[in-house]
Parts: sequence; structure tokens; C-alpha cells
Amino acid sequence: MTEILQTRALGKTFGGLDAVSDVDLSVQTGEIHCLIGPNGAGKSTLFKLVVGTYAPTRGNIVFRDRDVTAQRPYQRVKEGMSIKMQTPSVFRELPVRQNLHIALQHHVASQALAQEEDRLLELLELSADAGKPAGVLSHGQQQWLEIGMALALKPALLLLDEPTAGMSPEETFRTGELIQQLNGTGVTVLVVEHDMTFVRQIAQRVTVLHFGKVFARGSIEEILADQRVEEIYLGKPHEH
Ligand code: ADP
Ligand code: MG
Repeated sequence: MTEILQTRALGKTFGGLDAVSDVDLSVQTGEIHCLIGPNGAGKSTLFKLVVGTYAPTRGNIVFRDRDVTAQRPYQRVKEGMSIKMQTPSVFRELPVRQNLHIALQHHVASQALAQEEDRLLELLELSADAGKPAGVLSHGQQQWLEIGMALALKPALLLLDEPTAGMSPEETFRTGELIQQLNGTGVTVLVVEHDMTFVRQIAQRVTVLHFGKVFARGSIEEILADQRVEEIYLGKPHEH
């Protein structure tokens, strides 16, 4: 297996606080990788370092065999990263199809646009809502639309920060199916997630952060069997 993304001894300090410290994250090409950990563990900070919102205090980020540590976010997008941040940012007044159109227009030949919009609408199960303003969709549907917009870039690596936040259990499950479908078409996915039911549904490999450091890593089966991981989630003290 080859690595699509690697961070090496990555660190980010805010004032005196090591939000992310000495993190070696490794995402394999083709996998669904979940980044988990208790609140305040440093997940969102690590995510922002990877996509380039923050510059690291220390360390490196290698994406598709290139050091992208000094690259701006848009350059990383050009290299094949696509990002869905935590809060949906669809154009609420515009029809669902128009939202996809805007996302696609600079990436798809104009004669192929309508067909690509149809393909995404079907994938997102939004075909029946194509003409409605995006703002009338349910919270879950808006999140799916935004995932669709992120897909318009045909990313090699799709990065999602808590894609199921605020979703019903049914919407959460459907989001898991959608991510698995995308992954089946060859998109590598890195998901920051707190909901362990969802992680169990989709994860192939998992990295656990705790106090900014890698606490555990392994297959989903290994992580679920790890007593220490359970303890940090339940907030119980553990022995070293
Ligand atoms: P998580 O996403 O795992 O909940 P975060 O990455 O948001 O954790 O936060 C990790 C730590 O860094 C927390 O202690 C948080 O208060 C701190 N932190 C996050 N962002 C900032 C910031 N912009 N300025 C100062 N401290 C921050
Ligand atoms: Mg967070």
C-alpha cells in the first residue's frame, strides 16, 4: 500500500498550548481513515494543518509524495485535496442543481455539465429536490450537497470534519453509505469524527488523538478492542 498523506512530527502551538504535538499521521491510498479522540484532543487543529488553514509550528506534511507544508490551501486543492468543513456553506437561496453547477463549472467541460450534475444529484439522492432552493433542504441533505460540491473537484483525498454533526441517526447512517460509495469509486477519505457508531460503520483504519498526541492507531478492529481507547472516551483514568 502506498501513502497518500503523511504528517511527520507535526506540531501546532497556540500560546503555550501544544494543540497538536509530534503527530505522525499516515493515510493509505484508497482507504477510509478516521481521526478520533475526546473533545479538545486536537482533531480540528490537525485537520486545519493538513488542509493549510494553519501553518504548523513544527514538522512536515507530505501529500502524494510532495512536501506541501508551505503550500497555500488552494494549491493543496490543486494537488488533489478537497475539503468539507464543519459548518455547511451551501448557497441557500440558489437551487440545489445551481449549487452543484457553480462547484463544477471550472472543472467540467460545459457540454458535460448537466450530465455531471445529474450524476451527483443521483448519488446524493437529491434528484427530486434539484429545483428547490438549497436552504429548504434538511440539515443532513445540505451536508450531502456540500459533500457533492467538494466532489466536483474530483479529489484524490476528501477531507471531512465531523460530517454527521447535528444529524439524525438515519441521516448519519446514510452519510456513512455515501462515504463508502465514494470510496468505492477510488476516493481516499479522511474523516474527523466523534460519533463511534459512525466510525464503526465506515472506518478501515483509525488514528486516536489525545492531548494533541497520537494515542493509538490501527485497524478499526484493533481500536475497538483497545481498552485504553475506551477509557479515554469514557473519561476514566488509565494505567500507563
Ligand atoms: P478537537 O477538534 O479534537 O475537539 P481542537 O483541535 O479544536 O480539538 O482543539 C485542541 C486544543 O487547542 C484545545 O485545547 C483548544 O482549546 C485549543 N485551540 C484550538 N484552536 C485554537 C485557537 N485558534 N487558538 C487557541 N487555542 C486553540
Ligand atoms: Mg473539533
